[in-house]
Amino acid sequence: MIGIRRTEPHYWMPTPHPETGVFERHAFRGRRWEGQPMDMTVCGTSVAMAEPSEMDWRTAPTCMPCNDILKSRQTATS
Ligand SMILES: [Zn+2]
Repeated sequence: MIGIRRTEPHYWMPTPHPETGVFERHAFRGRRWEGQPMDMTVCGTSVAMAEPSEMDWRTAPTCMPCNDILKSRQTATS
């Protein structure tokens, strides 16, 4: 698990991959995007952030590593 506590809130946002430019919907720590130009995804990628277009929301696939990390976090028993 990459530096995320079970109780931390998160949100999803489509961002372009830093090398390929392909949009994926990653999870981020926090309650919402607060305008920061860069952030670290839950799956550990540093990405540039910008207001996603409606097209990005519709077409960006969910990042599976982020999904798995959050899912395991939710089902984990301490
Ligand atoms: Zn991800």
